Amino acid sequence: MSPTATITRDCPLCGASGAAASPFWQKADLRVVRCPDCGLLFVNPAPAAMAEGAFYDSDAAAYYLSPAKLESDYAGVRFERELRLFRRYCQRGAVLDVGCSTGAFLFQLQQRWPGQYTVLGTDVSGPALDYAASRGVPVARGAFLELDFGGRRFDAITFWAVLEHLAEPRRFLERARALLAAGGWCFALVPNRRSLALRCLGARSRTVYPQHLNYFDADALRELGRRAGLEPRATHFTHFNPLAHWQDWRRGGRPVPEPERAALLQRTTAWKQNPRLQPVGWLYRCVETLLAAASLADNVTIVFQKTRSDSGP
Ligand SMILES: [Zn+2]
Repeated sequence: MSPTATITRDCPLCGASGAAASPFWQKADLRVVRCPDCGLLFVNPAPAAMAEGAFYDSDAAAYYLSPAKLESDYAGVRFERELRLFRRYCQRGAVLDVGCSTGAFLFQLQQRWPGQYTVLGTDVSGPALDYAASRGVPVARGAFLELDFGGRRFDAITFWAVLEHLAEPRRFLERARALLAAGGWCFALVPNRRSLALRCLGARSRTVYPQHLNYFDADALRELGRRAGLEPRATHFTHFNPLAHWQDWRRGGRPVPEPERAALLQRTTAWKQNPRLQPVGWLYRCVETLLAAASLADNVTIVFQKTRSDSGP
């Protein structure tokens, strides 16, 4: 596949023609448009390597497997917000993590609550799955939409920072619904398009980059789930990374090399674990709580439920 190959897209939320969408952000070659019907922001045309997932199995692996990224992902604090939220709804059962990367979320579930969960991770990145398997996380290899799970049903399916990467996010939620047990939970976390940072920085934010094909706000993500047959049950705003925003502001939107992304993650993870920085941590959590209350935090998670049982697709 040519590295410059692109695919044209229609609105991944409502299906309106991509040709009718108006330009919203332009960042180097990346063109983000706004759907005239539902208002969703999405990349059109999209780099084919991102849209078809090939990028994650090749070029991106070096980033996911870099020591800095692994150290940050496997640190206890990395998934603390996601774990807290997850535990509120699902205390035991079969869990599928779609786009699990190196498996850190499932690893934490297994470590912290041994014996309570049966876990399975899936991802298009073979090298990332190799690492997950090496840490004892069971994995299923292949494209999620085509994988055969037999008759297996899950009590929870998670998409942590995944749907923004997908050319067809609705099909993934439809598949998730089909694989959920009746009453099962689906967790979808994405960057919040209406975060304070994106409102201030716009396309200068590192969130706006070629791997992100969709830019959801809470309303759009809820609607995406509804159209996939899932019932939105709760909305949670989390995370605030002032250092990343400050860097983006100073760089004026120039691309952030992946080693630098990983190094910043590693540094902030170390700070969060440093007891001498506790007062700063307290202040930080206050700001995060305030931003969350105002729906302005960096990420938004919608908790969906499959409310009816049916044979499904
Ligand atoms: Zn639309």
